[in-house]
Amino acid sequence: MTAPVILPGQTLGILGGGQLGRMFAIAARRMGYRVHSFDPTGDCPAGQVADVEVIAAYDDLQAARRFADGVDVVTFEFENIPSETLAVIAQTRPVHPSPEVLHICRHRLREKEFLIRHGFPVAPNKAVRGAEDLTRAVATLGTPAILKTADFGYDGKGQVLIEQAGREAEAWRAMGRPVGVLEAFVPFAKEISVICARADSGQTLCFPPAENVHQRHILDVTTVPADISAETARRAVELATAVAEALGVVGLLAVEMFVLASGELLVNELAPRPHNSGHFSFDACVTSQFEQQLRAVCGLPLGDVTLLRPAAMANLLGDLWADGAPDWAAALAHPEVKLHLYGKHTPLPGRKMGHLTAMADTAAKAKDLVLRARATLNRRSIR
Ligand code: AMP
Repeated sequence: MTAPVILPGQTLGILGGGQLGRMFAIAARRMGYRVHSFDPTGDCPAGQVADVEVIAAYDDLQAARRFADGVDVVTFEFENIPSETLAVIAQTRPVHPSPEVLHICRHRLREKEFLIRHGFPVAPNKAVRGAEDLTRAVATLGTPAILKTADFGYDGKGQVLIEQAGREAEAWRAMGRPVGVLEAFVPFAKEISVICARADSGQTLCFPPAENVHQRHILDVTTVPADISAETARRAVELATAVAEALGVVGLLAVEMFVLASGELLVNELAPRPHNSGHFSFDACVTSQFEQQLRAVCGLPLGDVTLLRPAAMANLLGDLWADGAPDWAAALAHPEVKLHLYGKHTPLPGRKMGHLTAMADTAAKAKDLVLRARATLNRRSIR
């Protein structure tokens, strides 16, 4: 069945009220759409920009039904929406990406099984359902290895590095969830991500591969174009497109990958939504990832993803507030630096509060600029 085209003036529903929803809502309102957000917390980042902010628990099915009644199409920015809630909404409104895609991508084991079944390359891994199981898995995969929770994990939460055998019981307790995946540690040369948009018509279009550096398992800096060979970039785009097609996603699919020294690519993780590593596109591409998500879920043609200038994005975590509000004017003294803040009230350590994007003649210069700008926010934050 072809999805109906949703046009400006109509109303988009976004499940989840974080920064991804906020930037989606900004793109949508710029194009003349109405936006309703759904999140348990009032005055949330997306709610501040939406026309209507629905404040309800994610498992409040009555609220979900009313939310669906008020919108023409529903998308999400947060993966842990209960299946029952999605099912209730999908009874009356199109949901993109589909609840089936979300079901696979929000659970590491299902995601790995899907990737392996379709022949996509992943790190050696084993499902684990208890401390003894973990001991067997460590014996098979060796160390170092990373234990990851199968569900409810993000930004490194629920991940434990196992450096040597003998620490399994402790690692299992630290992970703290009933099901996990043990992954062999990948000695990657680089981490990259490709965000692929897929329309209901089957049209696909990928943003240029972005290079990512993490700190404490949280994305720190993204640089684009990634410093990889043209051949590796071509294979990364081909891989992301093939995964999006195999999933049949309508919307965005972010594909995080490890690049080995040999140039071989392994898929690390999938996210069927806009991705932190695609924030550069808001300032540096003809079409941002948020507008692209909108175009895909509304049944419109996809936009041009050309990178206008090399760019770098640096996350601003709550840690930067340790000495009080950062010095925004200092960062903005660099005219090629753009500031994005998400309207979050409490700057907790590790919490994503905003980001900076810088553009320059080369990706290396953009990275240098964005790091210098971030360092001026709070001298103590210089790394
Ligand atoms: P994830 O939540 O799976 O995206 O993991 C967060 C970050 O942890 C990744 O971006 C990597 O920097 C690191 N990481 C995750 N899995 C592995 C692995 N198997 N080997 C090496 N580093 C990893």
